[in-house]
Amino acid sequence: MTKITVLAGGIGGARFTRGLLHYLAANDASAQVTVIVNTGDDMWLDGLRICPDLDTVMYTLGGGINEEQGWGRPDESRRTSSEIAAYGRGWSWFTLGDLDLATHIVRSDLLRSGSTLSEATAFLCERWQPGARLLPMSDQPVETHARLAADADEHRAGDLIHFEEWWVRYRASVPVTQFVQRGLDAAEAAPGVLEAILTADLVILPPSNPVVSIGTILAIPGIRDALRSTPARVVGVSPIIAGAAVRGMADACLQTIGVATTAAAVGLHYGARSTGGLLDGWLVDETDAAALPALTAAGIRSLAVPLWMHDLDTTAEIAATLFRVASPARGIH
Ligand code: GDP
Ligand code: CA
Repeated sequence: MTKITVLAGGIGGARFTRGLLHYLAANDASAQVTVIVNTGDDMWLDGLRICPDLDTVMYTLGGGINEEQGWGRPDESRRTSSEIAAYGRGWSWFTLGDLDLATHIVRSDLLRSGSTLSEATAFLCERWQPGARLLPMSDQPVETHARLAADADEHRAGDLIHFEEWWVRYRASVPVTQFVQRGLDAAEAAPGVLEAILTADLVILPPSNPVVSIGTILAIPGIRDALRSTPARVVGVSPIIAGAAVRGMADACLQTIGVATTAAAVGLHYGARSTGGLLDGWLVDETDAAALPALTAAGIRSLAVPLWMHDLDTTAEIAATLFRVASPARGIH
């Protein structure tokens, strides 16, 4: 039985994993997929624990995602959110749909009754049946904050604000000097996370944000080492196509850590396993074929193929190519 482990953020990780499961259903039905999900975007809001990436992955794989938004549920109203705003509470720029709120209420209740985030996630997934095992990266809260390089509203340059405030309220338009993972010192990988990496046949870095999704997962003690030492192949898909973040503002995150917004730069940022990095293989978009020589020279087996996840079939095709780049025996070098 093939064991596959994916490290995922929200939309990019969720859509890729949905295509991967579609591919496996037709080609390797007994394969088991574990998704280790970024929880750096999590926050308390009006007494509720919000886990944006876990929920996006759970809803996407479980058939309950709002496809246009990429988060939340279809056909939900904002009535409760508006009522909270009318009290002057919460963050007025962060809306939560009424159906989605039910998830946060159940999760928060479980957490307050002593469940870990892993246990609460497993409980929620019993309803959604995502077809993969979803693991939070850590059961301890680790929240990404952005250090502002300029004043913004009530915030001063140098202040740390929650990543979601920077991302949603400011659309990543205020420059930041660094991202800080608050709570990292007390965090460890959630149960099953290191094992899922160390015992996998294949580990995948999907097209998720390399800085605040995958970068945050990699910061959890033990995870980067597990990726370096796993006997599994580690392969990835570029989230950057033709020098641009496909959806979202990942370019602003890359700029903050000094990495160019190109498929090659992100691949080289992860690095080749042969030189202490993470990747055995890396897919770039067909329009980025010029990046292949630099990646190959660095020791990363790379291919250029269409990387737009337009629909289930095009995404399944990306997954199929990943399997080929992972097994040189099948003719790819
Ligand atoms: P988030 O937590 O919701 O921001 O989601 P992720 O971190 O999982 O993924 C966001 C990233 O997915 C974006 O920054 C894009 O670079 C990437 N992405 C989104 N759609 C596509 C696509 O169709 N193809 C590729 N290659 N990347 C995509
Ligand atoms: Ca996210």
